[in-house]
Amino acid sequence: MKPIQLVPLSGAGGNGFTQEPALDLLEYLAAGLARAFRVPCRVSSRSVELGFALDGRRGQYYSSAILQELERAADVDARILGVTSCDLYVPVLTFVFGEAQLDGACAVVSTARLSEPFYGLPRRDDLLRERLLKEAIHELGHTFGLRHCQDWRCVMASSHAVERLDVKTADFCSRCRKPVFQNGFW
Ligand SMILES: [Zn+2]
Ligand SMILES: [Zn+2]
Repeated sequence: MKPIQLVPLSGAGGNGFTQEPALDLLEYLAAGLARAFRVPCRVSSRSVELGFALDGRRGQYYSSAILQELERAADVDARILGVTSCDLYVPVLTFVFGEAQLDGACAVVSTARLSEPFYGLPRRDDLLRERLLKEAIHELGHTFGLRHCQDWRCVMASSHAVERLDVKTADFCSRCRKPVFQNGFW
């Protein structure tokens, strides 16, 4: 059973200062992922600086480049989830909440568009934590080889808007649960 390692990713915020996800948010996520996958999950003490992945014109970070870097630096005996508060993109999309290597070892998620203030609404930490946990379980699900699920309640349903994230659950449906189970995780 591979443990999960959370790697904090730091980059430049809108104000020009370096930003990194808050430690209490990472600890909450680690506890939720340990429960969901029933493996140990801990926050790495070493963070990765994302300057290499910044597209200055877009003001966003290229998630596929981040995955490559995480893979290079990865501990072979762990599943890696990079967590950043910087906004992510892939060239064909205006943004992504996260990206993962299908049937691989690495995934990345961003909190940038999961917080209510991004949409001009008052801050709600409970909602941010819930969305981050769902998005993290979803991306890690891809590392188990899972593709998108047609069941809208399943955590593997695709969601490109927070409204879609909010209606689905943090659980795998019975079909999606199987490959995770076969990998010896349950
Ligand atoms: Zn997905
Ligand atoms: Zn499913």
